[in-house]
Amino acid sequence: MDYKNYVKIVENWPKEGIKFKDITPLMADGNAFRSAVDEIVDYAKEKEIDVVVGPEARGFIIGCPVSYALGVGFAPVRKEGKLPREVVKVDYGLEYGSNVLTIHKDAIKPGQRVLITDDLLATGGTIEATIKLVEELGGVVAGCAFIIELSYLDGLDKLEGYDVLTLMSY
Ligand code: 5GP
Repeated sequence: MDYKNYVKIVENWPKEGIKFKDITPLMADGNAFRSAVDEIVDYAKEKEIDVVVGPEARGFIIGCPVSYALGVGFAPVRKEGKLPREVVKVDYGLEYGSNVLTIHKDAIKPGQRVLITDDLLATGGTIEATIKLVEELGGVVAGCAFIIELSYLDGLDKLEGYDVLTLMSY
């Protein structure tokens, strides 16, 4: 499926100079969304995944249907102050801005195999921070899956040595 037909490019949003890739049309189309989720599920099936992890907010949208289809749990990675119990945290840089990400300390047990999902790989800062959180808890990052990769931002460089699936590239 040509998923690019379902991505709207929004110029100068949320900041001047950014060409934001809006995936809400893809999510709004039942066939396109299911096809994208199914591709990630197929990718993950052979990896003996124990838990899916996704950073807020669009990582939830991709990760939750994947975890449901795999029959495994989903653990959210959230901005500081959002998770109610004990967390581990990490600072990270974003394509536009910087932030702190957290995960519940008991979200992953040592040795569990983790699939990380997000809608889009840009600079790789978010995924790098998410990997750090997973590994700090003793999780094994068995794969990382994205709908979109922005190849001009070289985010894949930060994922060297990790198994990565991207459904389309700009
Ligand atoms: P990175 O940390 O790789 O620089 O940025 C990726 C994160 O920012 C992802 O969580 C993603 O949701 C968000 N993001 C950055 N740029 C875009 C974009 O153009 N479109 C969408 N949908 N998300 C973006």
